[in-house]
Amino acid sequence: MNIIEKIAKAGVVGAGGAGFPTHVKYDCEAEYLIINGAECEPLLQTDKFLMREFAAEILEAIVMVAENIGAQKIVFATKKKYTKEIACLEKIIAEKNYKNIELFLMDSYYPAGDEQILVYEVTERIVPEGGIPLQVGVVVTNVGTLYNSYRAVKDLPVTDKYVSVLGEVNDPRIIQVPLGTSVKDCIAAAGGSTINDYAVIVGGPMMGTNLVGSEIDQAVITKTDGAIIVVPRNNFVIERNKQSIEHIKNKAKAACIQCSLCTEYCPRYLIGHELEPHRIMRALSYNEDAEVLKEAQICCECGICELYACPMGLSPRLVNVYFKNKIKEKFESSQDQLKAHPMRDYRKIPTARQTARLDLDKYDHQALAETLKVDVKEVKIPLKQHIGAPAVFNLEKGAVVKKGELLAAAKADSLSVNIHASLDAQIVEVNDQYIKLKAKDEVVS
Ligand code: SF4
Ligand code: SF4
Repeated sequence: MNIIEKIAKAGVVGAGGAGFPTHVKYDCEAEYLIINGAECEPLLQTDKFLMREFAAEILEAIVMVAENIGAQKIVFATKKKYTKEIACLEKIIAEKNYKNIELFLMDSYYPAGDEQILVYEVTERIVPEGGIPLQVGVVVTNVGTLYNSYRAVKDLPVTDKYVSVLGEVNDPRIIQVPLGTSVKDCIAAAGGSTINDYAVIVGGPMMGTNLVGSEIDQAVITKTDGAIIVVPRNNFVIERNKQSIEHIKNKAKAACIQCSLCTEYCPRYLIGHELEPHRIMRALSYNEDAEVLKEAQICCECGICELYACPMGLSPRLVNVYFKNKIKEKFESSQDQLKAHPMRDYRKIPTARQTARLDLDKYDHQALAETLKVDVKEVKIPLKQHIGAPAVFNLEKGAVVKKGELLAAAKADSLSVNIHASLDAQIVEVNDQYIKLKAKDEVVS
């Protein structure tokens, strides 16, 4: 079995993004392999942990992937300030004589880890609007995905996740949990919340998923989750994301002063893409059929416009999401050649200032306790933890499974991936959304 087949068999997906199947991403030829070790969202610490603890495994996977895609250049992009992680990587690079792996050290700004921004920073090539890095000869992959790919080559499927649990918890730490572990069990493993009325951000504060109330009770860890941030229910990020679209639209119509700061700071606009959110906001007020609204499709939803740039507290990002769902017609670029904005370098958002703006600076630099492997008795494993169609379940309720056994198979030709059991357990519930497993000694017969 070759590396692509092994990665497909193990059910590896992009560990930090939308869950694109890794066997599809790596099945190509490209001049560059760029490794994303930027971990650019405020507060996150899991990728840094992986770079420290599993530098050898990640670098071994890089060599295998680079060989598979025929990469002539291998660039490991991370931040200058991650000195411990850089030392771990340099040590292995020297020991193993990985002379062709170049470290590319970046300043601390957001969104340094966005694929298209990384491509531009490293190669000065601009990915076309709505396109992917492969169109300019680049594959970008992150450290968590590479760690899972290393394991896949050793015939170990994706069954566990490392997750940073921080913010308003008694014992902030990195935990290792089986996929399908409830978010509440993760918070309990970090000593429980320090406050009663809390909300949860799964992922980073800029692009993660915000949970309140019963949403927290239902949520479980999937292949793409790497962080749980517990915050007060009235935190700025939570309040901004829980507004209804009607409220957002009305507010935009009443309060947008057309200052264009949302555009001036937009990282897609700054690499030359035809995206000007202030024009979308204007059209929202006057003409919901305007041609400019198609530009919403090339918004990467980084959140800079709504959580940093707009002085009026408006949400161009959520307006773009609204139009992305509404307009089905494809965006067609009118530009022959893309050119980055001359002021781009001066408009990068320093992560520290960004964290303060989000009212999260008190959790910055929280020291995380030693990694804890959490022993859970029950998991709820979603059949869709990736971008494509749900995996297809074909076992019986009541069946006993071993950790690592195939639970649901990738649906053919639909960007689907395999899903494996994350516990030695019995299947106690199945529906078209998830499979519930209970450790055998917990099942009441
Ligand atoms: S979320 Fe806002 S800043 Fe980010 S790409 Fe979209 S329009 Fe630009
Ligand atoms: S930054 Fe805010 S007020 Fe200014 S144009 Fe954009 S949405 Fe309107």
